Amino acid sequence: MSVPHVPVVVLGAGPTGATVATLLAQYGVDCLVLDRWTQVYPQPRAVHLDDEIFRIVARLGVADRFAAMSRPALGLRLLDGSMNVLAEFSRATAVSRNGFPQANMFDQPEFEELLRANLRDYPRAELRGNVEVTNLSDGSSDRIRVTYSDRSNGTESTVEADYVLGCDGANSIARRWIESSMDDLGFEQRWLVVDVATSADLDQWEGVHQVCDPHRAATYMRIGESRYRWEFQLLDSETAGDYADLDALAPLLRPWVGRVSADALTLMRVTEYTFRAQLADRWRRGRVFLLGDAAHLTPPFIGQGMGAGIRDAMNLAWKLSGVLAGTLSSDVLDTYEQERKPHARKMIRLALGVGRCMTSGGDVGNLIRRVVLPTLHRLPGVNARVLDGETPPLPRSALVRKSRAPRQIAGKLCPNPLITGGTRLDSALGSGFSVITVNTPSPGERAWIEQRGAVLHLAAADSELGQWLRRGRAHAALVRPDRTVMKADKGLGALCGALPLSATPQPASLGAPSTPSRVGADERRP
Ligand SMILES: Cc1cc2nc3c(=O)[nH]c(=O)nc-3n(C[C@H](O)[C@H](O)[C@H](O)COP(=O)(O)OP(=O)(O)OC[C@H]3O[C@@H](n4cnc5c(N)ncnc54)[C@H](O)[C@@H]3O)c2cc1C
Repeated sequence: MSVPHVPVVVLGAGPTGATVATLLAQYGVDCLVLDRWTQVYPQPRAVHLDDEIFRIVARLGVADRFAAMSRPALGLRLLDGSMNVLAEFSRATAVSRNGFPQANMFDQPEFEELLRANLRDYPRAELRGNVEVTNLSDGSSDRIRVTYSDRSNGTESTVEADYVLGCDGANSIARRWIESSMDDLGFEQRWLVVDVATSADLDQWEGVHQVCDPHRAATYMRIGESRYRWEFQLLDSETAGDYADLDALAPLLRPWVGRVSADALTLMRVTEYTFRAQLADRWRRGRVFLLGDAAHLTPPFIGQGMGAGIRDAMNLAWKLSGVLAGTLSSDVLDTYEQERKPHARKMIRLALGVGRCMTSGGDVGNLIRRVVLPTLHRLPGVNARVLDGETPPLPRSALVRKSRAPRQIAGKLCPNPLITGGTRLDSALGSGFSVITVNTPSPGERAWIEQRGAVLHLAAADSELGQWLRRGRAHAALVRPDRTVMKADKGLGALCGALPLSATPQPASLGAPSTPSRVGADERRP
């Protein structure tokens, strides 16, 4: 009996798997998503995502629905054990250069419900729940054979895929097949996670509070109209069982709920997590890739773990679609790990930096809090991320062509401003490559960009995009489908030479996003 074939099998329908499957389906790629459970994992974990991730959420077609279920936050405050503010990193609750609020609080199960409901609108993606993936093996004609069993009756099935995406979380079976191991970045702590609902007004600063206290570090944040999250470092002698009810939790919650009667609080959940910092040593073997928690684990101190998985999904989906459509060479798949692994490592290091500020004891801890905190803006990497919220640029690769120029924009995301007609740039750029320029293209350049299936966006010199190009000492930028600048230059000729073919999504597979016009402009057309 022949084994069924599907171009891509996605292992796991967590936030990473649901995102990559949606993006692939938008590109017209058929995929089968396999997950152990029929419903989303019900326990809240992630509560924060940034504006870069919100931009990807918008690509999925659910920006408005996510905005309705999330809550912009004012930023991050580091406090000492007596609740004095040591440092504050503000975030714009109005839209940022990415077009969305910089810090957004939400409930992960509700977000995952949204991702799954949206995925159902894409017939090219089939989600099969209640199945356990038990094995990967070599299939016929270079394919990967995936074996899985129905959890209700044990029936075993197999499917062959051209590519398998391991989005199967921390205990990934794909990682075992790849023979990859997790490099330990030297952090392991047990924390208590507490979710509370109340309609009472706690009257707190509406951002993330990180209490830097070597005796008991803590995090507090409001995540919804009536939902609140606390995380407390557990002492060696403690377990979650010691804090099973609100009476036991009262001493920990007091700094924030002191004036509110215990009757007004409802304990939604209290549980223990071990926070770890780990990075898979390899993210790919042949046609099997790792994404999300399968590839990296970070303590949640800067709320970037799930975001890293969503970045992986965005980075890989268009490359894989291009390879499957024959518009990109399979070599581009090497750039996935080259680009994403250093980025993930930097974000984990940043989380560890904040974690050490919060939890280190003794002279080292005091030194960090007294000397390092006030000078955070002078630490390389920290100023970029903690102070203004911008992610580090992607490193050089075949798809990130950096020059030696200072302040260059290659490897960074292009802005997403409002353009003529009141829409944001992203909706005009569509899902392929694009060229943003303040130069008037020659007829030949215009025709070439058109032939390559790219969108040409003409920016006025005094527009936000024009100023962005000028700051990057460029007149034109070649922007990838994930909105990362591939190459920037003063002339269009060099960019046209580097422009890959765009994979054209098949209209039947598209959900909410509309097909872009091929030429857009902001403010004026040169
Ligand atoms: C307390 C806490 C707070 C956090 N806060 C934040 C935050 O504020 N911001 C942030 O960005 N991140 C945060 N995170 C991290 C975030 O929750 C994870 O990074 C995210 O859930 C990872 O998503 P994923 O899809 O990669 O993996 P998972 O969510 O683990 O999903 C993996 C999926 O694969 C399925 N699966 C696994 N193995 C198999 C198999 N053999 N067969 C079939 N199915 C399988 C599972 O059922 C699951 O659905 C936090 C985490 C914790 C614990």
